[in-house]
Amino acid sequence: MSKRPRFWETVPLTRMTEDEWEALCDGCGKCCLNKIEDADTGEVFLTRVACRLLDDYSCQCGQYQIRKKLVPECIRLTPENIESHAYWMPATCAYRLLWQGRPLPGWHPLLTGDPESVHAAGISVRGMTVPEFEVDEEDWEDHIIEEPN
Ligand code: SF4
Ligand code: SF4
Repeated sequence: MSKRPRFWETVPLTRMTEDEWEALCDGCGKCCLNKIEDADTGEVFLTRVACRLLDDYSCQCGQYQIRKKLVPECIRLTPENIESHAYWMPATCAYRLLWQGRPLPGWHPLLTGDPESVHAAGISVRGMTVPEFEVDEEDWEDHIIEEPN
């Protein structure tokens, strides 16, 4: 099914078509970085240690259609489960922003028409990740980063 004009401004998350839902992703790749959650405080720290399927240049999943088979822990975000995941999602994530009732940022590819605009704006993880097979999980805390914003 096709996308309606400026659907992100008028259509609730729960009423979007699959194409519209998928198009909301800005391609930043930040949700594909491993996080460390402090068991006592619940605070979430972002690391530059990337899921093994993330391409550091394109910031895309290398096997998006079959990712759940290869990475069972990969979370498939839906309008129904977004509330339980919002606390760890990147501040600029379009799903989180719309769920919060906020607008898309001006650099979002839906607004610019250019998939590169997320990289040009310095929002994505392009060129800053290390693959998880190169770093032991016990060393992830050595790779904590600030979220690119
Ligand atoms: S953080 Fe949000 S916008 Fe960025 S890649 Fe993940 S799902 Fe897409
Ligand atoms: S499997 Fe793909 S979509 Fe899921 S976290 Fe890894 S790179 Fe991201």
